[in-house]
Amino acid sequence: MRERQSMAPQEPNLRRFVRDVPDFPKPGILFRDVTPLLANPGAFRAAVDSLAAPFRGDNVDRVLGIESRGFILGAPVALALGAGLVIVRKKGKLPWRTVSASYELEYGTDTVEMHVDAVEAGQRVLVVDDLIATGGTAAAAVRLAQEAKAEVVGCAFLIELKALGGRERLGVKRTHVVLQY
Ligand code: AMP
Repeated sequence: MRERQSMAPQEPNLRRFVRDVPDFPKPGILFRDVTPLLANPGAFRAAVDSLAAPFRGDNVDRVLGIESRGFILGAPVALALGAGLVIVRKKGKLPWRTVSASYELEYGTDTVEMHVDAVEAGQRVLVVDDLIATGGTAAAAVRLAQEAKAEVVGCAFLIELKALGGRERLGVKRTHVVLQY
């Protein structure tokens, strides 16, 4: 019988599971594609463990996962921390009453939303996404939590594009990243 490998490899080099795709979705953008990492059970587990580890003692109540790869990583991180999952979506996707926060793009603005009752005052919240670039998206998610009077414990990202300085825009004490580029 073939033995199934379910353990995370020791000190896996997660970077080799991130595929660089030049000029996607438009010319000049180097897209960091995490689908090979998600497809590898050991790498996926190691990534989730690494994202959650610094927050294990923090009594996180809710993980805010940002559409869409933040859902994929936020869900197992929430389970690992014994927390609930809240989804932060692009405008117009959520069925119930929402609160919204807008942020600036290179051209124009974008808006994210959360259900009005998704986070309660005083709850301890961790914001999760796959990647922080300019930080605009995650900063908007932080504002949603703060406007609900939650306490933002920190933000966790698999990848940080360091040169863009996004973490400075978040206004949170703890920003944890697994891989920097
Ligand atoms: P930002 O608001 O600029 O920090 O952008 C972060 C969001 O855009 C995240 O949800 C990412 O998934 C996505 N994103 C931005 N830049 C990239 C990139 N180079 N590769 C992959 N995803 C990206």
